[in-house]
Amino acid sequence: LPKTDRKVWTREDVKRALPIREANSHKGSHGKGVVIGGSKHMPGSIAMSARAALRSGSGLITIATVDSAIPSVAPFIQEATYMGLEENDGFATGQAPDLSGFDGVAFGMGIGRDPDTRGLLEGVLEKVEAPLLIDADGLYELPLDQVRARRNPTVLTPHPGEFARLAEVSISDVIAHPFSLSRQFAKEYGVYLVLKGPSTIITSPDGEQLVDTSGNAGLAKGGSGDVLSGVLLAMMMQTDSLMEALANGCFLHGSTAEHLTVEKHSMTDLLANDVIEGLPVTFRTFS
Ligand code: AMP
Ligand code: MG
Repeated sequence: LPKTDRKVWTREDVKRALPIREANSHKGSHGKGVVIGGSKHMPGSIAMSARAALRSGSGLITIATVDSAIPSVAPFIQEATYMGLEENDGFATGQAPDLSGFDGVAFGMGIGRDPDTRGLLEGVLEKVEAPLLIDADGLYELPLDQVRARRNPTVLTPHPGEFARLAEVSISDVIAHPFSLSRQFAKEYGVYLVLKGPSTIITSPDGEQLVDTSGNAGLAKGGSGDVLSGVLLAMMMQTDSLMEALANGCFLHGSTAEHLTVEKHSMTDLLANDVIEGLPVTFRTFS
């Protein structure tokens, strides 16, 4: 086997690579992003992604979700703008909206697995020219040929179960060979792959790998991945190197869980929303 090129991403790396806010910056300098997801019975995921993206420095965030979810989400996130998606039985459906003005797109959090959502995902894959992150149920029936055909960056953020399904291997294979399977998959489909877990492996389309070892079992809860997606979207829009952006985002997310479980919470009670509200302390350690 060829010698692998992999590196553990450290606090020093984050210090060097974290986006800074210039005195004369304006909201356009920090990215206009859209999060697409949520469904009637899962309206919270997309709210957490959006809030995490805002807490991570995004200039503007739009929440694209089913019309019926907007009234319940909007009062909690007044900094966002909203785009209603056509719905069928509580799931998003219809064509992809015009997303040409956005600097980054994250798709899938809480969107559910309804077959009628497929056209929306296909339209997003086809039309979005900005970096596109796909997470959660967006990964469930992902048309990989269409992913491979994209000419712009695609980021996939599966946990081991989601990755096993995508790569058509067993979860125990993923656990046993996370580096080689990640590299093989990222190269085959031309994607940035963020394979999440107690350690997270970030692989570029050409097989470069970064490892993030931050975080703890307090993150083993529903909602953690939704928060990560929002942080990653924000970083993707503010950093030229996608690899650095993804590694920074994973580190910020994991190290927030670490300081929270020392200072304020335990791994038992930590919630995804606590992680969002713990981001400010993390960012302050880098300013
Ligand atoms: P998801 O499974 O999509 O909700 O994503 C879970 C998030 O929490 C990922 O960022 C994981 O890396 C992180 N996570 C889950 N369990 C652990 C753990 N035991 N130690 C460290 N990070 C974890
Ligand atoms: Mg998830």
